[in-house]
Amino acid sequence: MDTTSFTKKPLGNEKIEPALTPPPMVATQTTFTKKPKVVAGKSKKRDIPEGLWTKCPACETMIFDKELDENLKVCPKCGHHFPIGSRERIHSLVETCTFEEMDATMTSVDVLRFKGVSTYKSKLEQYQKNTTLKDAVVTGLCKIGSHRLALGVMDFGFLGGSMGSVVGEKLTRLIERATEKEMPVVIISTSGGARMYEGMFSLMQMAKTSASLAYHAQHRLPYISVLTHPTTAGVMASYATLGDLILAEPGAMIGFAGPRVIKDTTQAELPPDFQTAEFLLNHGLIDAIVPRREMKARLIAYLDFLTAGKKAAAAS
Ligand SMILES: [Zn+2]
Repeated sequence: MDTTSFTKKPLGNEKIEPALTPPPMVATQTTFTKKPKVVAGKSKKRDIPEGLWTKCPACETMIFDKELDENLKVCPKCGHHFPIGSRERIHSLVETCTFEEMDATMTSVDVLRFKGVSTYKSKLEQYQKNTTLKDAVVTGLCKIGSHRLALGVMDFGFLGGSMGSVVGEKLTRLIERATEKEMPVVIISTSGGARMYEGMFSLMQMAKTSASLAYHAQHRLPYISVLTHPTTAGVMASYATLGDLILAEPGAMIGFAGPRVIKDTTQAELPPDFQTAEFLLNHGLIDAIVPRREMKARLIAYLDFLTAGKKAAAAS
């Protein structure tokens, strides 16, 4: 009896077979569904690269974050310059332990009681917490090579490096201190322009910083302006373009109004490399393009040149 029933079912109809097979199938199905859950370890594997690797937007190479940091946030393969924070940049330029920060605690006041999607006050608090900066510029006196100088470094990470009254006031105080102490000024800019939350008060910073640079220039002291990606609008229309020497990082976007605004206004076709550091070098707006890794050495060389006359006069 047993033998006939076993032979009949597989031979008679294969379609019937599932009637017998389902029980084991169910068992295997459950194990199969369990397995994918275990395979969820794949997502863990995905999590690891996210924190450790960065994809270069220019050449699409995956770069180990530690390597990127060691290379001053420059792609080791194609030389693409990633954004770099103000503190990291200062660290990359300044002689160890020589940076004396000025006005480190200066913060903006919400004069206009600005209310948009969120209030200016809450925006400031949020960015101060996220960046551990008080505003979009860090200023101080320092030593680069053998040169004592006044250094201002902007940070795009703080509200798009926008220039409000704190950025303007800190830079003005820095320039005035440099004038008083007869020091060169170096300002490394990156900015989306004036800070709209402060309205007219942010626009006034353009005149204020420019005036302080004029006094600095009257004392025949050098000012080097370094433009990094991106430097635009109100900052570009004031201190960023007033340098005795204007340098830029490779590939930096530099301009006043955005390309779309210019295209709509002029009704002209814009060249493909419009508003890049390279385009502006060819057209004479900037003096040199300096890769980040060479910036310190080049600044020293330029300062040697720019202060040679003063040193010779002092010696004689
Ligand atoms: Zn690259």
